[in-house]
Amino acid sequence: MKFGKLVGAGLVVVALAGGGYWLLHQDQPAEKTQTTTKQPAKQQSSSEKKAYPVTIKPGSEEATLLMVVNKKHPLPADYNPYNGGLSPRTETAKNQLIAAMKQAGFDVGDTVSGYRGYDYQKTLYDGYVASEGQAEADAVSARPGYSEHQSGLAFDLRNGSGGLFAEGGSDPAAAKWLRDNAYKYGLIVRYPADLTSSTGYSHEEWHMRYVGMTAAKVIKEQNISLEQYTGNAGGDYNKTKSEDIPALEEYTAKYSDRLTK
Ligand SMILES: [Zn+2]
Repeated sequence: MKFGKLVGAGLVVVALAGGGYWLLHQDQPAEKTQTTTKQPAKQQSSSEKKAYPVTIKPGSEEATLLMVVNKKHPLPADYNPYNGGLSPRTETAKNQLIAAMKQAGFDVGDTVSGYRGYDYQKTLYDGYVASEGQAEADAVSARPGYSEHQSGLAFDLRNGSGGLFAEGGSDPAAAKWLRDNAYKYGLIVRYPADLTSSTGYSHEEWHMRYVGMTAAKVIKEQNISLEQYTGNAGGDYNKTKSEDIPALEEYTAKYSDRLTK
């Protein structure tokens, strides 16, 4: 891997800030370096900034909040921790966000698409495969078990007419407002346009994820993905399921330990 002078300087800063730890992290060095060179002053001036990935106490509430469900970290078929709904804190944050959006004048609906069970996701996905083929299905829908909607921590905003909110860039001002303000409620725009290679998903203006106030603020300020924040692998599906690490195993482990295995 090649590094330019400026990039190399950023690398040293991060290495020092992180006590050299992140050098062990093989997943996303290019993205981290890019983030660093964008905001070198911030990285150097704030002693409160944590090095990434964060270390999370196994089994803690924080671990649950930061659970990564993506194309490499599936949930078991029967995972349904909130009785078919959202976690209580996600539900509260969702209501606060929608109220604030209305106040700001956006056409947002009261209902969202929240928890989706494995069977429902399988029906959705199989439908896409049948009509469009697997490649197209993978582009627009998660395979059953791999949808963040099954975590109870994610939801899709709808517009006043019931469609997906700001779909396809239909309302750039609203999408920007979400990027700028969602963190105030402990939420992040989970699949931003500029982080698709890390998240494994195309830009979705409407898909929100609850991560708690602390993580949401840092993720927004640093413009990083949940994968980058926690140090989890992201991107596309593994070639075989045997390479997957179950999402529940991830969130009960120390993410930093996981990286060195
Ligand atoms: Zn969604």
